[in-house]
Amino acid sequence: MTNVLQARDLTRHYEVSQGFLKGHATVKALNGVSFDLQAGRTLAVVGESGCGKSTLARQLTLIEPPTSGSLLLDGNDVSQASAAERKAMRTKVQMVFQNPYASLNPRQKIGSQLSEPLVINTRLSAAERVERVREMMKLVGLRPEHYYRYPHMFSGGQRQRIAIARAMMLNPKIVVADEPTSALDVSIQAQVLNLFMDLQESFNTTYVFISHNLAVVEHVANDVMVMYLGRVVEIGDKDTIYSRPLHPYTQALLSATPSIHPEDRRIQIKIQGELPSPLKPPSGCAFHKRCPFAIERCRQESPELRSLDRRQVACHRAEEINA
Ligand code: SF4
Ligand code: MG
Repeated sequence: MTNVLQARDLTRHYEVSQGFLKGHATVKALNGVSFDLQAGRTLAVVGESGCGKSTLARQLTLIEPPTSGSLLLDGNDVSQASAAERKAMRTKVQMVFQNPYASLNPRQKIGSQLSEPLVINTRLSAAERVERVREMMKLVGLRPEHYYRYPHMFSGGQRQRIAIARAMMLNPKIVVADEPTSALDVSIQAQVLNLFMDLQESFNTTYVFISHNLAVVEHVANDVMVMYLGRVVEIGDKDTIYSRPLHPYTQALLSATPSIHPEDRRIQIKIQGELPSPLKPPSGCAFHKRCPFAIERCRQESPELRSLDRRQVACHRAEEINA
């Protein structure tokens, strides 16, 4: 299998001001994240809000550079690229946001919004661009004759189709979608998810699908990466992880999703307490304050991600807990 992207030890810290007297503090949004993204597959990134998912999205779409670590796109390390180089490479990695309203210009007809990437990045004539835009509109289930309409004349689901069309205009290698259906009516969500999957089949696009909804993830993902406080706690094939999650946090997320039934019936874990602040992550395993299996070692030592039972997991006690 070909890797279109490789993240190695990707780290992103932000300095934030805590006010006049307290000075600055460091938000550790991403802490040593490593994974491979395989061509034509969908990797779902899951975890509570605040776990680093959106920071990861900004890294993958080259909106901002990592504090340290490397990001290989088609084998080239882009982590140290200049702003201009990153901008040029952004055509390969496109983003679809949660709120299609916010990502569309309300005063511009959608045909011209969709042709913008073609104006900037191709030498197509005006007539060819119109043709290409109308084709793409058809592909995403929009009527080509609506080329001259404004965003407000479309429903929420149609607007998300427009955003998806725009992301696909330059045939990117990777599309990063950050909660792309969570602002839509439930009845529309499945249609938009199916559109994502149809487009993947047509163009062999690789997706990074960020979601807190494990039922949605079950529908679209090939692989799943579970994050907690800026770290990967479990990653692997979706069916492997959904049928038998090994990390207590993954187990808790899955047992909180009523439509999913891991084979292992003993798994009924409730997460206690709140997600700790990334300004003051706990010592040792970042999950230890909420983990029912925590022991002294967990408070001292941060668990490494390691291979176990066809996936990777970061938990000192994974064998014992799942024996
Ligand atoms: Fe729980 Fe310890 Fe495993 Fe962390 S390392 S998930 S605290 S058992
Ligand atoms: Mg977010």
